[in-house]
Amino acid sequence: MRATPPAELDVLVVGAGFSGLYSLHRLRTLGRTVHVIEADDDLGGVWYRNRYPGARCDIESVDYCYSFDDRIVQEWTWTERYPAQPEILRYINFVADRLDLRPGITFDTRVTELHWDQDAAHWRVATDRGDTLVARHVIMASGQLSKPQLPAIEGIAGFAGVLAHTGDWPRSGVELSGKRVGVIGTGSSGVQTVPQIARQAAHLSVFQRTAHYAIPARNHGLDPAYVADLKSRFQEYREIARHHPGGTHRRIGTESAHDVDPAALEETFRGHWDKGGPDILAAYRDFRTDERAAEKAGDFVKERIREIVHDPETAERLCPKGYPFGSKRLVLEIDYYTTFNRENVSLVDVAADPIVRVEGDEVVLASGVRHELDVLVLATGFDALTGPLFAIDIRGIGGATLPEAWADGPRTFLGIGTHGFPNLYVVAGAGSPSVISNVLISIEQHVEWITDFIQYQYKNGITTAEVSVEAQDRWTQEVYDVAAPTLFMKGNSWYLGANVPGKPRVFALYLGGVGHYRDICDQVAADDYTGFTLS
Ligand code: FAD
Ligand code: NAP
Repeated sequence: MRATPPAELDVLVVGAGFSGLYSLHRLRTLGRTVHVIEADDDLGGVWYRNRYPGARCDIESVDYCYSFDDRIVQEWTWTERYPAQPEILRYINFVADRLDLRPGITFDTRVTELHWDQDAAHWRVATDRGDTLVARHVIMASGQLSKPQLPAIEGIAGFAGVLAHTGDWPRSGVELSGKRVGVIGTGSSGVQTVPQIARQAAHLSVFQRTAHYAIPARNHGLDPAYVADLKSRFQEYREIARHHPGGTHRRIGTESAHDVDPAALEETFRGHWDKGGPDILAAYRDFRTDERAAEKAGDFVKERIREIVHDPETAERLCPKGYPFGSKRLVLEIDYYTTFNRENVSLVDVAADPIVRVEGDEVVLASGVRHELDVLVLATGFDALTGPLFAIDIRGIGGATLPEAWADGPRTFLGIGTHGFPNLYVVAGAGSPSVISNVLISIEQHVEWITDFIQYQYKNGITTAEVSVEAQDRWTQEVYDVAAPTLFMKGNSWYLGANVPGKPRVFALYLGGVGHYRDICDQVAADDYTGFTLS
């Protein structure tokens, strides 16, 4: 039975992933009337939808988890270094059950309208199930990567076989064994799923437009003694991550890669390659800003690809080109490169010979070559950050829409609020460290800050909080200024909106570091929420 949402709320939360669940718990604890509306038929967000074979975390399990409740920390035990999707989904369900969160959620219901009523000082909310309600505050826990992006390929929606996007994988699974399968996309999702699909399919064609840098995950089971030790000092361990630039425990190099002799460089890179994980990104201090420095790591990875992949032409095609190492998200791989040594796998270079259309059960290339397939997997990413927000008709003061306000890219104060849209808060979205950090650290920080702010307003008789133009202009400029000298600007990636036709090309994530960002937010709160106009 679908729970009807209450007609009137202190706080509506949109989305029941990690962000929405913690928001619900915290606001309940603070005594607010709060309810979550979730479009899916169950909770988990990313980890409910991305059930494609091979889906896995690229932050270590002991870091990619909640820390706010020590009972949960002690009762849950991770089994792998980089947990797979089913284990993360089990964890989310464990937390929801432990805190009895389900009764506070309406599933199978999409929020379609959020209209600010200036006289009543609340949001009028409508859903696709015909619900209407009012809420003084709205928390957008609607995700960064919750809106899958279909490639602009003629005829794709009419593919005659089974079509599946990694970001909305059919709940009943996809039959792959013995099938002719195609995968479009070789980012994190594609690289994770290709080896798994190759083991089942009769033949797998990997349609690659851009080769991504991937380094080994070296995933392994966790030693119970290691886990027990971490649990015994978990808050102390977590506190380090809360103040770390990336929200992890990654060691950040202080040397320039130019000051190190080739043998020592090779030894460092080899160490990272053998240990696995993304820490190579921070091996030297200039990897984020100096293309020639970063290229040294890029060259090392290309050498490994040429060693692993037997066919020299395939190896060369798998070597990334045309953008600096680290400027797109570094992918963690398990058996990705070795998969191209299998007889049943072919790499199709669609940069050289683009996909022009899908006709019946065939993918047709510009050269006229046709690939007949039973299953077509789209690992083509997401309309990130703004996509889930723009999918809702959000109208602020005077009926202005969010896409109008953000026509040239997101404009926020701290990533949390936007001028003209009072009492509306976004968790781990544009303008904050978000997906450039361990997102669980960023979610906890945001949820705590936002819910404290809401509570502050109730305690002080405040009904509306609106970001000032000056605070928003300053912060938006700061976000762009910090990003400007970095190599991220050269990645042509989804971080820049480059994967969605017509999207403004801006780097809208705050790169100043999770710890520094936390200090800025804490100072704003200590100064009675300066930057917001409170009335
Ligand atoms: P989500 O999990 O996206 O949840 C948002 C929810 O809002 C969804 O359930 C959605 O259905 C719902 N929703 C959206 N719009 C509406 C609406 N209009 N009405 C009702 N409901 C709505 N981050 C890391 O730090 N490390 C990782 O290793 C990592 N791996 C990832 C792997 C994949 C495959 C993907 C896609 C993302 C990954 N991320 C990772 C980023 C991930 O987005 C965050 O870590 C985190 O899971 C986000 O949680 P969330 O609750 O903010 O958003
Ligand atoms: P992505 O990084 O945006 O990759 C999409 C891929 O699809 C790219 O290779 C892109 O090629 C290709 N593509 C898009 N349209 C195409 C077309 N018309 N023809 C050919 N190729 C096309 O998406 P993603 O792999 O889903 O990852 C998105 C983000 O989700 C990641 O960066 C990460 O933050 C998160 N994620 C994390 C994990 C994890 O390891 N924990 C796993 C999955 C996802 P171009 O590069 O040429 O555009």
